[in-house]
Amino acid sequence: MTPPELSVIIPVFNEETGLQTLFDRLYPALDALGTSYEIVFINDGSRDRSAAMLRGQFQVRPDVTRVILFAANAGQHMAIMAGFERCRGDIAVTIDADLQNPPEEIGNLVAKMREGHDYVGSIRRDRQDTAFRRYASRAMNRFRENITRIKMTDQGCMLRAYSRSIVDAINSCREVSTFIPALAYSFAQRPTEIEVAHEERHAGESKYSLYALIRLNFDLMTGFSLVPLQAFSMAGIVLSLLSALFVVFLALRRFVVGPEAEGVFTLFGIVFFLIGIVLFGVGLIGEYVGRIYLQVRHRPRYLIDAVLEQAVSDGSASGAKIGSVLSSKQDSST
Ligand code: UDP
Ligand code: MG
Repeated sequence: MTPPELSVIIPVFNEETGLQTLFDRLYPALDALGTSYEIVFINDGSRDRSAAMLRGQFQVRPDVTRVILFAANAGQHMAIMAGFERCRGDIAVTIDADLQNPPEEIGNLVAKMREGHDYVGSIRRDRQDTAFRRYASRAMNRFRENITRIKMTDQGCMLRAYSRSIVDAINSCREVSTFIPALAYSFAQRPTEIEVAHEERHAGESKYSLYALIRLNFDLMTGFSLVPLQAFSMAGIVLSLLSALFVVFLALRRFVVGPEAEGVFTLFGIVFFLIGIVLFGVGLIGEYVGRIYLQVRHRPRYLIDAVLEQAVSDGSASGAKIGSVLSSKQDSST
């Protein structure tokens, strides 16, 4: 079996309401491309009927469908990692299961890749999300632009294409908390971006709570930059210089004007403000230390319950066994 040209990787977490529509649009869109492809679904420990629906779809199109079933939720980016580790295509395209990015756009990404780019990012045209999400995302994009070397207009859009060499590079990374588009960008030699359409979530709700979004952005910032930590040493230097000057000023004032008792509460105000900064700094160090801790424990990044795929026949045999299910309860990746 020769590897397909295109692998489409789709993380799925509690998407039972939208999966059927996804199947109905995705397969025709890919068939229309006229190239060889495979679709790798990763069920990220869904607690609804998603896993059963993916099993069903594997029976319908076993020739191009592969399904990885996680034993527990590991997060969208770990699900994509698992997809990368198993995909066989020359071009890997990631897309969300909720149809916010139309599958019909995949052809445009593939066309760009064929022009010789090794990474095609995307920018959402008229983004259909809440005003809060759009505003927060713009702010985070700007912040990331300043503290990392990663240039992405729209970091949140997951409809992206990666070359085989980038997928291999990502597969060689062992990190536990990461942000795939940024990691890929750091390996890319000829990156580019295109505009893609964006629709409202087709069914169900966003799987990211505000808390999960904040965690994800910490992954992005701490995973690709030390600037947040360094900012504290810089602020420390500036503050100690300023307070040294202030002490000199107070000493001189005491000799010239005499002792002072006023302004005590102003001083409290300043002190509380500085304590706030210090606490934030400690918390920030905690974020980095926490990630180091996760990493050194060397626990598996995700646990696979089962993998559904056709047996890969060695040689030229065309009669690959259909529907062979490889179930590996202990399979995991560290
Ligand atoms: N997702 C996942 N694991 C998670 C959260 C999300 O696999 O823990 C998947 C989800 O099923 C979807 C994609 O990641 O296919 C993006 O999630 P969502 O659409 O909820 O995010 P948003 O568009 O709101 O940023
Ligand atoms: Mg979405």
